[in-house]
Amino acid sequence: MEARITLLPGDGVGPEVVHEAAACLTAVAKAYGHRFHLEEALIGGAAVDATGDPLPAATLARCQASQAVLLGAVGGPAWDRHPRDQRPESGLLRLRRSLGLYANLRPVKVHPALEDASPLRPEVTHGTDLMIVRELGGGLYFGEPRSFSDERAVNTLPYTRTEIEQVARVAFELAASRRRRLVSVDKANVLETSRLWRQIVDELAPSYPTVQVTHAYVDSFAMALITRPRDFDVVLTENLFGDILSDEAAVLAGSLGLLPSASLGGPVGLYEPIHGSAPDIAGRDAANPIGTILSAAMLLRHSLRLETEALALEAAVDRVLKGGHGTSDLGGLKHQHGTRALGERIREAIR
Ligand code: ATP
Ligand code: MG
Repeated sequence: MEARITLLPGDGVGPEVVHEAAACLTAVAKAYGHRFHLEEALIGGAAVDATGDPLPAATLARCQASQAVLLGAVGGPAWDRHPRDQRPESGLLRLRRSLGLYANLRPVKVHPALEDASPLRPEVTHGTDLMIVRELGGGLYFGEPRSFSDERAVNTLPYTRTEIEQVARVAFELAASRRRRLVSVDKANVLETSRLWRQIVDELAPSYPTVQVTHAYVDSFAMALITRPRDFDVVLTENLFGDILSDEAAVLAGSLGLLPSASLGGPVGLYEPIHGSAPDIAGRDAANPIGTILSAAMLLRHSLRLETEALALEAAVDRVLKGGHGTSDLGGLKHQHGTRALGERIREAIR
């Protein structure tokens, strides 16, 4: 098949990890006889420096004209003092909104070779394989009214029926295709939006008879996630809770650098590692490219519907980790490599 993919390298380690993942996409295309047109565009601080705008109109147009977008990371200390609409992060928020993305998928798997990379005991993390589905377009991050003064500041947590239903359906469908367990995480004993959330999840449940649904309060779930992570399959939650819980879940895998994400909902999917721009290690060939490479695998699966190719790329990552190869963030592995060398090993392992 032919596909147009926009690459948004962004800031910090973004360009380094996107370069490795893009080369993996090219290797997959070659191995399976596809043609992927990969085109780069500016976003984040790099775009602010070049154009004054963290999401230039040309970038948005290019993303909208492609099937999928692969992003590195945005932000860094150089832009922290810019006004809000000129901060790199606001460009990414605008991109997600403009593409109509409302479901953020964050798979968390514990690889057997990396059980020692986590501060949690292997008996606890062994075999963990869960998927967090975070609502991405609503809630506290966008709610109005919103205001700040030195005496009083306000944020608002609104959710509409449509916003809850559409993300919940994504989670139900994923659960039906996985181990058929869905836990919906809320704070329904305190928050009105959580009461509506719970009600709607219960209304949808009969449409997915194979899926077993439970509800959990976010505070106790935060404990359960690291004390008995194997009990969970698909975890559905709202924007703020999902942001926090998915960083917490990253502890299970051993490094922030390993974990991918997909943002779905509109015709164009957005794929990015869950880590940030990691300015402390940028430009040193030290960043772990696996989170971005696994994001590229999700791109193959969800936007291009190339399941075999997605599995082949994931299997290549597995083989390389199993052989004891990794970057320095993974500690304890036999063979330590730089970003480029690890990317190259993964490409060689694609069959
Ligand atoms: P953001 O606000 O953009 O989410 P953050 O403040 O959460 O960013 P990161 O940029 O994700 O921070 O970095 C957190 C820590 O994890 C840093 O020490 C960084 O070096 C490390 N880190 C992040 N990504 C990687 C990676 N791909 N490989 C190795 N280490 C990483
Ligand atoms: Mg972060």
